[in-house]
Amino acid sequence: MTLAPFAVDVNSSAGRRVSEPPPRWRDEFQRDRDRIIHCSAFRRLEYKTQVFVNHEGDMFRTRLTHSLEVAQIARSIARALGLNEDLTEAIALAHDLGHTPFGHAGQKALNQCMRPFGGFEHNLHSLRIVDRLERRYPEFCGLNLMFETREGILKTCRADHARELGPLGERFLSGGQPSLEAQIANLADEIAYNHHDIDDGLRSGILEPDDLAPHPLFASALAESNKLYPDAEPKRILATTIRAMLGEFVNDLIAFSRRRLGSARCTSVEDVRACPDSLVAFSDDLALEHRRLKRILRRKLYNNERVRAFNDAAAQTVRELFEVFITRPQLLPVEDRKGSRDENVHARLVADYIAGMTDRFAIQEHRRLVQIERWPRDWSVA
Ligand code: MG
Repeated sequence: MTLAPFAVDVNSSAGRRVSEPPPRWRDEFQRDRDRIIHCSAFRRLEYKTQVFVNHEGDMFRTRLTHSLEVAQIARSIARALGLNEDLTEAIALAHDLGHTPFGHAGQKALNQCMRPFGGFEHNLHSLRIVDRLERRYPEFCGLNLMFETREGILKTCRADHARELGPLGERFLSGGQPSLEAQIANLADEIAYNHHDIDDGLRSGILEPDDLAPHPLFASALAESNKLYPDAEPKRILATTIRAMLGEFVNDLIAFSRRRLGSARCTSVEDVRACPDSLVAFSDDLALEHRRLKRILRRKLYNNERVRAFNDAAAQTVRELFEVFITRPQLLPVEDRKGSRDENVHARLVADYIAGMTDRFAIQEHRRLVQIERWPRDWSVA
């Protein structure tokens, strides 16, 4: 397939930090994707919470299935816009590698614990995993990914951290944009979680279809599904409704981004990078619907009592684990100790270790080391 002139072309990439012989059957971004899929942080996403803790049931999304859904949506959009699908896919698959156990609550708690030591941002941690923490290759630390893949993974970054990242951090200081492929992965993330959270929310019984009825897109998609399939069971009607909504957002994003690309007269990746704003965007109408949807989910799902009880237990677990490892370094696995006397270095090792845990491993470690029961026994781990 011919790439659009503003797509990232693998032949003009800024390349890898450590140079390597070119792959034989794949291109360099396909190689990145494959390295991501084979890395251990990626496998662990299977046991990390998206919104619902793993042991609430096997039917809900995990970080892994979320990442796969993001990749699928992102890839479709990239193809429609003539962009680099392989790069988009690699970024999407890697975008949540740095997530802590227990979803957003875990990340927030770890960030608080790390505040005196430079904080914890899951984006930056994703980059740290692919740049340093994966230990699979004798020639280098991390996965030695291409510049554009690493750039796409680093969605946001504080200025002080950006200064330490050289060319990769530059755009956070000068206000430039990442590639369109990275912009797509970012919005595909939001499209994916809004819709799968509706699906999981309804499945769990925490959300009711009535909670979503005030949302115009949901209401019209539901009415349309009922009209088209008057005899279908409610489960299929809801799935059809969510699918139709997701399709609306994707179609709007493609159409509107295409228009913006046209009016910005971008003819190269450099033009894209120099734009003051992201060119991949929803139209104003859909951006409004998007925000409305997020508001409903926040009110009815993320702030639900059951979800909050889980989040409180999660935050407490992370804080107590941090306390244990920060005060007793000898409890870290030997390979993670490094024997550093610098407290910032030690704190970062503790954060790396905790962030790398799956939900159930964190709960097990907490039971073993803290011996205070934060988790109801019916959430017990296998
Ligand atoms: Mg995500």
